[in-house]
Amino acid sequence: MAHLTRILAATVAVGLAAPVLAQGTTPLKPIGRQAQSAQPPVAPIAPPPSPPREWTGEDGASGHPQMKASAIRAAAANFEGCLEGLWPLAAKRNISRASFDKSVKGLTPDLRIMDLVDSQPEFTKAFWDYLDILVNDARVQNGQDMLNKHKASFDKVEKAYGVDRHYITAIWGVESNYGTLGGDRPVIRSTATLACVGRRQAYFRDEFLAALEILHRNDVRADQLKGSWAGAFGPTQFMPTSFKRFAVDFDGDGRRDVVDTPIDMIASTANNLKKDGWVAGQTWGYEVVLPKGFNYLLADRSKQKTVAEWEALNIKRAGGKAFPRGEDKAYLLVPAGHQGPSFLMLQNFRVIMKYNPAEAYAMAIGHLADRLRGGTPFVQAWPRHEAVLSREERRELQEKLRAKGFDGGEPTGRLGPKTRAAVRDFQSSVGLIPDGFATTAILARLRR
Ligand code: CA
Repeated sequence: MAHLTRILAATVAVGLAAPVLAQGTTPLKPIGRQAQSAQPPVAPIAPPPSPPREWTGEDGASGHPQMKASAIRAAAANFEGCLEGLWPLAAKRNISRASFDKSVKGLTPDLRIMDLVDSQPEFTKAFWDYLDILVNDARVQNGQDMLNKHKASFDKVEKAYGVDRHYITAIWGVESNYGTLGGDRPVIRSTATLACVGRRQAYFRDEFLAALEILHRNDVRADQLKGSWAGAFGPTQFMPTSFKRFAVDFDGDGRRDVVDTPIDMIASTANNLKKDGWVAGQTWGYEVVLPKGFNYLLADRSKQKTVAEWEALNIKRAGGKAFPRGEDKAYLLVPAGHQGPSFLMLQNFRVIMKYNPAEAYAMAIGHLADRLRGGTPFVQAWPRHEAVLSREERRELQEKLRAKGFDGGEPTGRLGPKTRAAVRDFQSSVGLIPDGFATTAILARLRR
């Protein structure tokens, strides 16, 4: 299952609501890591000026029956009963009654979260805007400070897990701006709310129970277990279930403290990447230059070739360096059309995508890691003159594609790989360069 997104964290880290992608594969989701597998990607942004502390009392924008204001009120009224109903499941996990009571006693639902679950900000960001926000000089400098400060820990963790320290640091920086911004909502209360109220109850029941386990084992104390509204916590924003799978007690003090013990946090994040298939010694990807007349239909996640095979198609590394490992498998990603940079993506890029299934996120992690070890910004320019399509325009684009027989998936207003493929097929059918990039020009052409 794809990990949920850490975008919320990322957004917290940049002081914005989650950025949304107008283009790009899987756009960013507005919740913390892992929370949204069942939901289409959302496109958020826009810093709510100062977020209201109380629930608006309105129906959710999703229109889901469990997001109706009346349903939310009814579920909230039964909150205590709902939690008690989860006790047998907690008992099965060997959580003691005393520990259960201590965690849920006096707990009330945080209904403000219901507004966040269904928030649909209109403003969206382009791929390059998102990268600009997440990878900048300040974040590079602060990351280098972290690498120096925790050098001894990174030495040990790198040796144990084979995951390059720059990626761990990049995740740390993107998720919480190095632990300075990670959310202050009690995870127990957030996950209990989501487990008992609203449209994501089944998903969050497991998160709530995993959070109870964390407290029962005292891996993280209740006063430390705070985070995003979706329950992601700590500098690298573990969801409770991902904590359960990946957290390690690296310093051997008996607690897997991914919040306040840096070496546990660093090792747990490395363990997560390793278990997800990290290839030691391999980079995430390469910025590349495509030859004139290149067949853009090859730019597809399902079309993997070795780096040497791509080279044989006259693809060169941007900046002129040679590719170091010709035998590695890669796919070609052209996130902003033929006027923007292209990339060959390796296995480790796929691993980062499991941490958060958004291409712009994964690229920000990879690029920040490169910058942390002294790498330069991307060589090729982004097509910054291209206007970002509004949600309505994106929906219209999808409807028009569908009407013409190009299946871009449900017209949700969110652009993913399916829409990209449909755009490409449409472009191909009318003699345009099939780069899959949804621009205002493409929309205009579809309106004809
Ligand atoms: Ca420990």
